[in-house]
Amino acid sequence: MTSIGIVGAGVAGLHLGLLLRQHDVPVTIYTDKTADQVAGGRLLNTVAHHHHTLERERALGVHHWDASEYGYVCHQHSIVGTPEPLRFRGDFDHPSSIIDYRLYLPRLMADYEERGGELVVGPVDLDEIDRLGRRHDLMVIAAGRGPIAEMFPRRADKSPYDRPQRRLSAGIYQGIAYSEPKGVGVHMSLGHGELLELPIYSKQGFATALLFENIPGGELERLVDLRYEDDPAAYDRTVLELVERHYPALYERIDVDAFGLQGPDDLIQGALTPIVREDYVRLPCGTYAIAVGDVHCVVDPVNGQGANSASYSAWVIGQAILDDYGFDEQFCRRVAREREAFVHGVSDWTNLVLNPQPHMVEVLMTMAQSKALCDEYTRNFNRPDRQWQAVATPERAAAFIARHATDRDVAVA
Ligand SMILES: Cc1cc2nc3c(=O)[nH]c(=O)nc-3n(C[C@H](O)[C@H](O)[C@H](O)COP(=O)(O)OP(=O)(O)OC[C@H]3O[C@@H](n4cnc5c(N)ncnc54)[C@H](O)[C@@H]3O)c2cc1C
Repeated sequence: MTSIGIVGAGVAGLHLGLLLRQHDVPVTIYTDKTADQVAGGRLLNTVAHHHHTLERERALGVHHWDASEYGYVCHQHSIVGTPEPLRFRGDFDHPSSIIDYRLYLPRLMADYEERGGELVVGPVDLDEIDRLGRRHDLMVIAAGRGPIAEMFPRRADKSPYDRPQRRLSAGIYQGIAYSEPKGVGVHMSLGHGELLELPIYSKQGFATALLFENIPGGELERLVDLRYEDDPAAYDRTVLELVERHYPALYERIDVDAFGLQGPDDLIQGALTPIVREDYVRLPCGTYAIAVGDVHCVVDPVNGQGANSASYSAWVIGQAILDDYGFDEQFCRRVAREREAFVHGVSDWTNLVLNPQPHMVEVLMTMAQSKALCDEYTRNFNRPDRQWQAVATPERAAAFIARHATDRDVAVA
């Protein structure tokens, strides 16, 4: 019977592994960390799952944190640096939710093993992947942003940047009251960057993740180099001061006395370069290897799409495995074709938002005046292929705006 090898137990590897186990397909996940190591380690990211991903969780029977209880329902926008500060809101049709991956991934690893999935723990390198390729009919490489991804050539036509466009600081904080209705705060400080305020469920219960997306050279960039361990109180004070100056809409909901990073492991600082890689390669042993998730496409987290795209892509691969008759180049091309609009939509839209052309700015500014436009843009977080159709060119953006022209002046803060 067909046997599938997966490298990596992130969201891509696990969603695929769980889907295959649901259909009794023999599958082995090779990964470099145990569930306990993931659970007890440093913050990995601050991932929002949108409705389409939550629907796959439901289909897999792993929707352990019901979105009606743990989720949020809107984006609360604020912009400073414009002639007048702006505040407006866009609503989802269905809630999204944010569960700390140190809870999420270990739980799904357990689900996978309980359902007969084999999990082999230990780092894998390129030689090992070729050896594993002799044992399996198809290799799926879901190892994230590490060096293994380089086995798939970079696609220059889809990768406009050769360096990070933002320097990131993501941490889990206490002392922030949620907005009403509960939403993700999408705060912008023109020239300095964005702050995503994320209602997260963490090991210590409900809290707020702050993901600072700092423009290199801007005033907030120093947050990325600030060491919490050196002086936790000074760290918290600096974050507070910068939030007060650049993100006042968030500052209003902070209880200054209770504010602070949840713990030393609840912070990650760094940067990533967006990239799209080729979909597949043929291993020296003759078996095909397909890239999925961050191996295939890395996007800046400013739009909260990488994990959702990884899950979508894993699902496309899984359905093709269940449906097709062979794991040859025809199979790989089929997968590439079926996920292209979605994965490239995520990447193209996110790359545009990082350095917005005038038509993208026009969409954002019009959203402040048209709740209907803002709602559609917000709902499209669940349909990034459709979002890209709406903003890809000045002409498309004009048509997107025109569709809601009659709804101006009804923005709701
Ligand atoms: C701060 C931040 C915020 C984010 N916010 C969002 C968001 O809101 N929404 C969203 O959709 N995305 C978000 N993302 C992106 C998201 O985290 C990634 O796109 C997603 O986790 C990628 O999943 P993956 O399964 O491809 O890789 P990973 O989650 O990186 O998993 C890789 C797996 O491979 C294993 N591995 C690595 N190397 C080896 C090796 N050599 N041998 C064996 N195993 C190996 C790892 O241990 C891990 O199990 C965010 C990212 C960051 C950094």
